[in-house]
Amino acid sequence: MANYSVTVRVPAKINLQLTVGPLRPDGYHDLVTVFHAISLSDEVTVEAADGDSVTVTGEGADQVPADRDNLALKAVSALRAVTALRGIRIPDMAGVAVTIRKRIPVAAGLAGGSADAAAALVACDELWHMGLSQAELCEVAAGVGSDAAFALLGGTVVGQGRGERLTSALVSQARYHWVLAFADGGLSTPAVYGMLDKRRDGAPVAEPELSNELMAALRAGNPERVGKSLSNDLQAPAVAMLPALRHTLDAGLDFGALGALVSGSGPTCFFLARDASHATDLAVALSAAGVCRGVARATGPASGATVIDRAGIDRVGG
Ligand code: ATP
Repeated sequence: MANYSVTVRVPAKINLQLTVGPLRPDGYHDLVTVFHAISLSDEVTVEAADGDSVTVTGEGADQVPADRDNLALKAVSALRAVTALRGIRIPDMAGVAVTIRKRIPVAAGLAGGSADAAAALVACDELWHMGLSQAELCEVAAGVGSDAAFALLGGTVVGQGRGERLTSALVSQARYHWVLAFADGGLSTPAVYGMLDKRRDGAPVAEPELSNELMAALRAGNPERVGKSLSNDLQAPAVAMLPALRHTLDAGLDFGALGALVSGSGPTCFFLARDASHATDLAVALSAAGVCRGVARATGPASGATVIDRAGIDRVGG
């Protein structure tokens, strides 16, 4: 088989704010969230092949479907449907062999599956010479995974609706140093939302609003203020379901983190450090305290899905 391939690097996300509005009649909640892309990333390679396939290696690979349920393959199919609609001719070998090298832990509240979907879109757009705009790719991505459009953009972005209506946030050039603590247990996203609804017990819930304090802190690029402004409505239900997370969060704050939060619906916790060396100290201390399965350092904001390698690509399509 000819060696036509494209490799894309794609970031994990954390949510600096996640405010959950009332339960809608369609079973979803309106959200206001501030997505922040971090340097923890997956790499996805697509290679021209006779048929579609997916191979997953690395962190948590055994928990990721290696068939059509894989979000990267769903993205390939969604993009192929766009080519058909627009009458775009794709090269003869229209199948793709997708290889995913995972570093983003699976089902961790870091949107790794959506990230892989976004990466597959960018890679196939390139492999097939489609030349779709970022807005067009975002539209396809939104239909594949709830956080996939954000993974295309990267940076720090406000999400509304179900999290799919994205607006770039006005922020400073500041670079933030994060420490992630991966949990021993798991939490299902629908179960955490269910616990939130149960705890609200039918009480009236305000429409979600963007935190002025967080936005001001991000505009100022002030880590102390950002740390104090982190918020997540899903944290209390996540901690109620997995009480060990309380020890993890408290340990990070005891070790001097400027802020600590559960990411998305968990169970990963993240901590803001003062600078790179504080992040190293914090990671070592959390690891030694035995309050999590593993730790990682990351910086943010990171770029969205980006092509990092091409092989033989000029000969495809023309
Ligand atoms: P969510 O909150 O949307 O469930 P998450 O960030 O907590 O997402 P993901 O790593 O995206 O977690 O995994 C969610 C589920 O998606 C997993 O249980 C996994 O089986 C499935 N999945 C499908 N494709 C992928 C993929 N390429 N990488 C990771 N998980 C995938």
